[in-house]
Amino acid sequence: MNDILPEQTATWRYLESVLIEIAASYGYDEIRLPLLEHTELFARSIGEVTDIVEKEMYTFLDRNDESLTLRPEATAGMVRAGITNGLLHNQKQKLWTTGPMFRYEKPQKGRYRQFHQFDVEALGYEGPDIDAELIIMSARIWERLGISRLKLEINSLGMPESRTRYRESLVDYFSGVKSELDQDSIRRLEQNPLRILDSKNPEMQGIIEAAPVMIDYLDDASAEHFDRLKTLLSAANIEFTLNPRLVRGLDYYNRTVFEWVTDALGSQGAVCSGGRYDGLVEKLGGRTTPAIGWAMGIERFVALYEVCGGETPSAAADVYLVAVGDAAEQTAFSIAEQLRDELPGSRVELNLGGGSFKSQMKRADKSGAEFALVLGEQELAASQIGVKPLRSGDEQTSVAMDALVATLREKFASA
Ligand code: ATP
Ligand code: MG
Repeated sequence: MNDILPEQTATWRYLESVLIEIAASYGYDEIRLPLLEHTELFARSIGEVTDIVEKEMYTFLDRNDESLTLRPEATAGMVRAGITNGLLHNQKQKLWTTGPMFRYEKPQKGRYRQFHQFDVEALGYEGPDIDAELIIMSARIWERLGISRLKLEINSLGMPESRTRYRESLVDYFSGVKSELDQDSIRRLEQNPLRILDSKNPEMQGIIEAAPVMIDYLDDASAEHFDRLKTLLSAANIEFTLNPRLVRGLDYYNRTVFEWVTDALGSQGAVCSGGRYDGLVEKLGGRTTPAIGWAMGIERFVALYEVCGGETPSAAADVYLVAVGDAAEQTAFSIAEQLRDELPGSRVELNLGGGSFKSQMKRADKSGAEFALVLGEQELAASQIGVKPLRSGDEQTSVAMDALVATLREKFASA
C-alpha cells in the first residue's frame, strides 16, 4: 500500500481530470461508493472459485459479527448501488467512479495491495454498439494523452448456455492432462474449469495454450454480437487482435471481454480491462439488466503516461514572494492575495517565517517557482517590485506595483 507523494499527485490529478472529462463527454456521471461491502456481495458476483475471492480479499468481522470486505473492484458495488437506489429499473445508466481497491497480492512493480481504478459502467445496454463505444472512449484517452504502446485484445465468452458445452470440453481436456496440473487447477477442474485459463503459473501456460477455446463454442446470437462489435471497431479505425484465451479473472463476464495491454511496463501489462456482465444485476437481486464496463488501473496508467513522455501541465503562474522588513512583509500579504484573485489557477507562495534576503531567495529557488517577486524597503518606497527569473539566467527587472498583474500575465502567457 503506497503513499502517493506530492511529486506524483499533480500528475495523478491531471490524468484523473482527463478521464473525468472524457467520460463526461460520452454522457457518464459520477457515483461515489463505499469502500466496504458485505463479503457475500463479492463472493456471489466475482465468484467463490476465483483468485480474488479465494486468496486476495481483505475480509473481517465487524463488531456485530457481520463479514465485511474492502472492495477488490468496483463493478459489484456499482451494481449493488444501482439496485438498492432503484437506478436500474426501466432506466439506463452510464456511471463512473474512482478510488482505491484492495487485493492481497504479491506486491511488485505495477501490482499493489491498495491500488486505484477509474471505472466506467453502462447499465441497461445490450450492445454491441455500447461495447464499441466504451472501447472507442478508452482509445480516445490514449489518443488525447499521446499514449502509445498499447494493444487491444478482445474475445467473446458467449452466453452461460453456450458455455456449458465449452465447460464440458474443458473438463475433458484438462482431465486428460491432470497429472501436469498444479494444485489450484486440480481443485478448479471440478468447481470452475474456466478459471484454470487465467492461472498466472508459468508452468501451466503450455497446457493452457493447447486448451479448447470458447470462440469455437459461441452461440449464434453471441457470434453475431461479436461480429458487429468488430465491424464497429474497424469502422472507427481501432486496431484489435482476437485473443481466444482472454477470459478475465472474474466469473460474471459474458460475451464481450477486452484488455488494453502494453509491453512497456514489464510483466504487469494490463492497463485497462473490461467486459459485459448481462447476468450480474439479476444474480444480485435486481431485474435482468444487460451491462458492460471497464476499469483502468491508475498506477499502471500513470506509469505508462510517463514512459510515453507525458508531462503534467504546470500552474498558470508560479511565483514566490520574497519580502524583507516588517513593512514589506505586510504589503507582500496583500500583493499575494491580489495575485490569487486576479490570476486564478496560479501558484503564489509567500515567504513565511522571515529570514535574510539570501535565505528567502534560496527557499524561492527550492519551491520550484518560475519567478521570485522581491519586495524590500527600497522597492516599497518606489512602489515597485523586483521580478527575478529563477529558471533562466535572465536579469531581475523592476516593475511598477500596479503593473505587476499585467506583467505576470504576459510572462506566463508566453511561457
Ligand atoms: P492482472 O491480470 O494484472 O492481475 P486483473 O485482470 O486482475 O489484472 P482487473 O480486475 O480487470 O485486473 O482490474 C482492472 C485493472 O486494474 C487492470 O487492468 C490493472 O490495470 C489494474 N490492477 C488490477 N490489479 C492490480 C493491482 N494489484 N495493482 C495495480 N493495478 C492493478
Ligand atoms: Mg489480478
